[in-house]
Amino acid sequence: MSNVKILPEPLINKIAAGEVVERPSSVVKELVENSIDAGADQIFITVVNGGKEAISILDNGMGMSPQNAQLAIERHATSKIFEAEDLEKISTMGFRGEALAAISAVSMFEITTCHDEDKGGFQIRLEGGKKTHSAKIGFPKGTRINVDNLFFNTPARQKFLKSFKTEYHHIYDFIVKLALGHPNIQFKLTHNNKVVLNIPKNQTFIERVQHCFGSEITDGLMECKYEESYLSFHGLISKPSRFKPSRRWQHTFVNNRYVKCQTINHGIYAGYKTLLMKNMHPMFFIKMDIDPKEIDVNVHPAKTEIRIKNPNLIHTIFSDQISRILKEGTRNHFFVPASPVEPTIDETIKRQIETTSTATSQEQPMGKQKEKEINFYEEPNEQLGFMAQVQKQDSAKPKVFLNPIDRPETEEPPPVLSSTDKEEAHLNPKIASSTSSFEALGQLHKKYILAQQKGKLLIIDQHAAHERIRFEEIKANFYNNSLDTCPLIIPLLFELPPQDGILLEQNMESWEKLGFIIEHFGGNDYSIKEVPLILKDRDIEQVIKSVLDEMSQFGKSGKIELFYNEVFSSIACHSAIRTGQTLSLQEMQTLLDQLASSDLQLSCPHGRPCIIEFPIEELDKKFKRIV
Ligand code: ADP
Ligand code: MG
Repeated sequence: MSNVKILPEPLINKIAAGEVVERPSSVVKELVENSIDAGADQIFITVVNGGKEAISILDNGMGMSPQNAQLAIERHATSKIFEAEDLEKISTMGFRGEALAAISAVSMFEITTCHDEDKGGFQIRLEGGKKTHSAKIGFPKGTRINVDNLFFNTPARQKFLKSFKTEYHHIYDFIVKLALGHPNIQFKLTHNNKVVLNIPKNQTFIERVQHCFGSEITDGLMECKYEESYLSFHGLISKPSRFKPSRRWQHTFVNNRYVKCQTINHGIYAGYKTLLMKNMHPMFFIKMDIDPKEIDVNVHPAKTEIRIKNPNLIHTIFSDQISRILKEGTRNHFFVPASPVEPTIDETIKRQIETTSTATSQEQPMGKQKEKEINFYEEPNEQLGFMAQVQKQDSAKPKVFLNPIDRPETEEPPPVLSSTDKEEAHLNPKIASSTSSFEALGQLHKKYILAQQKGKLLIIDQHAAHERIRFEEIKANFYNNSLDTCPLIIPLLFELPPQDGILLEQNMESWEKLGFIIEHFGGNDYSIKEVPLILKDRDIEQVIKSVLDEMSQFGKSGKIELFYNEVFSSIACHSAIRTGQTLSLQEMQTLLDQLASSDLQLSCPHGRPCIIEFPIEELDKKFKRIV
């Protein structure tokens, strides 16, 4: 057996680098957090090719003396903790004292810093952790750290880095989150010589949210505020009618740090109570302040998760306060209706809020309240569980077939079904001569089609069924290269939050393949010049936005199939007949024929129910016909 040896310091640092430095964005994270800890109020971040080639962070913080700069690159060198007790009351960003050592071990590294302008600045260079140069140098108060050729000496790690666009995306995301947590600081991000973010200093949190996300998002938000000695919070939350199909517009900051906290999230959802529709999520940008002793930030290595000492109390505060704020907002006529002529959704919501708020938890029957609350936390894939359950049932029980495209319907007016409308040709009554084994019986509440098939009663969700037909049709046409497009005489202009702009631009070619010709118009604006024919006269902007919303969940990994499916399903949703639309018997029959002529109704792995069937024996049993 060989002798036990203490590992040499450079090797230890290289190993530690594996934990601290995962990718360019983690380098940016550590360095920018150091700048914040150094009291800087201007931080300039410059990256080349997603940070894979070069990262430079310049700040106007307190800087380091030459001795401290030398020490800072040693492992476990920190000016932030001296005793174990300090861990309890950490308010600074970084505290492990290993970032600089780790980063310098796997890059070409340079610190230039000045603590005292009278004494001048100091510069150190390292290559793969070995010092190659140190000298006095003229430099204004502050620090600049350059990190070039990250992972140049650990090729295995370098190989695992994603495309520079993905890395850039991570950096952008991180800077936005950090900027929201520190509205007093100026952040400027330059990527490949282009200034992509320049957020001025001394903003309020709300101004900063507006700056980073644009009016597209903030128009749907209202202010919230709560101040007590135990905790205080303020920020912006969704107006009662402005929900999103994903959770991406949810940002929580605790003591200036971006965190993910289930307790706070659930509390907020509970505050919205029945206002939330299934699979819809509120947006919220909340900044909470609490005594650092009440939370533990040291749970997660990247420190985005926190543990709370008194989760029940915090949950209750958020739930009660959000509910109060929504109620007050409505009373103060916070929600100006989009179009004052029509009766607005806000009126309904107002009524709903009033009823939910008077029905406090004691007054409401327990069972009912529980049922509603379960809905808030329902994840889309919980429906898979539901489907599995349904399919396990024996054949005499009602069966549920599912729709692949489970997305909430928009408030767009329903397309008119008419045989003269060429676009709706697939619902043309001339093919309605009942070749189907489904026979339409009638429409129920402008929502469901009642039909019969040998030995069964069928209930079909008209929107879900049509959506599924369209989905398959669009998909088939796309892969057969027969998806027709249509130029727009007047290009459509629309605004996107910067994050979505990046996503859109990353996939321009794929959009084009689908028949969307989109161009950057300047700033956050884009123009659409051509669209798939099937979307002519539809809310194209909404289609694009809902795709981007979904994509933000998976798009970074660049799986093109997922992207296409997302576009197909969005087009399908926006072009399908709606709930609330009256259908003639013939139109219903056409829809059923299409459903029957394919094996669609059996093929779908997930989504919400499309057809429910009741065997006649089951009805017979209910009417006690079988003895
Ligand atoms: P930590 O941040 O956990 O203390 P780091 O390795 O990130 O460990 O940094 C080591 C030390 O270097 C810090 O404690 C701080 O004293 C000093 N330092 C790092 N970056 C800066 C900066 N931008 N300005 C001033 N001091 C800095
Ligand atoms: Mg640090």
